Amino acid sequence: MSQSANIDPSEIKKFEDLASRWWDEHGEFKPLHEMNPLRLNFINSGSPLEGKTACDIGCGGGILSESMARCGAITTGLDMGKAPLSVARLHAMESELEIDYQQITAEEFARHNPASYDIVTCMEMLEHVPDPASVINACYQLVKPGGSVYLSTINRNPKSYLFAIVGAEYMMKMLPRGTHDYARFIKPSELDEWARAAGLTLQDLKGVSYNLFTGLFSQSGDIDVNYMVRYTRPE
Ligand code: SAH
Repeated sequence: MSQSANIDPSEIKKFEDLASRWWDEHGEFKPLHEMNPLRLNFINSGSPLEGKTACDIGCGGGILSESMARCGAITTGLDMGKAPLSVARLHAMESELEIDYQQITAEEFARHNPASYDIVTCMEMLEHVPDPASVINACYQLVKPGGSVYLSTINRNPKSYLFAIVGAEYMMKMLPRGTHDYARFIKPSELDEWARAAGLTLQDLKGVSYNLFTGLFSQSGDIDVNYMVRYTRPE
C-alpha cells in the first residue's frame, strides 16, 4: 500500500472487524441489504445490466456486486479490506456466481484499465475515504465513453446527522457506533462539483428514504439523508 494511497486505515479496519457479519440480513449490514433492491433497480433502469461489464468500487462483502452479476453483468469488485473480500469470494462461490474480486484502490485499478466498463458503481463508500474527488475521477477513468457511473452516499445537514448518526447508530442501533463520521458526509452539490470536474454529466438524482414507522427504505424525491446519482461519461 503506497503512502499516498487514498485510504483511511481506521475506516478499512471498521469493515474488517465486521466482515463475518456481512451477509447476516439482520446484523450490522441490514441497511445495505434493505437498500440493495432500490439501488439495483436504479442501476438496471438506467443501464440494463444483462451482458454489460460492471465494476463495483468499495464492494465490501459483495451485496451489490452479486446482485449485478445475478442480473447478467460481468462483474469486478474492488475493495481495500482483506476480510470483506474473503467473505465476498466465499459467498460468490456459494451463490455460484463468477465475480472477479480484487484488493486494489479505484485509482490504481483505473490506471491499468482505462475506459473498460459499461457501468461503474461506488455505493456507500465515498463517505469513508480521505479524498472522494479522487475516487470519482477514477470512476470517470474506468467507465467507457457513453457508459454510466452510479454513486450513493449520505448528505450533510442537521437532518442527516439526526437520521444517520443519532437515529441509526445511537437510538435504533441499526449501525455500530462510529460507523459514520458526520464531517465526511457529502452534499449533492459537492459531489456534483467533483463529478463535473472529472468530466461526468449528471443524469439522475434520487433520494433513498427510511420510514421510521414501517422500518422500510424507499426511493423518493427526498435527498436530505441517503441519495444516489447517475452520471454518464460523454461519448
Ligand atoms: N459498496 C458496498 C459496501 C459499502 S461499505 C455496499 O454498498 O454494499 C464501505 C466499503 O468501502 C467497505 O467494504 C470498505 O472496506 C470499503 N472502503 C473504504 N475505503 C476504501 C478505499 N479507500 N478503497 C477501497 N475500498 C474502501
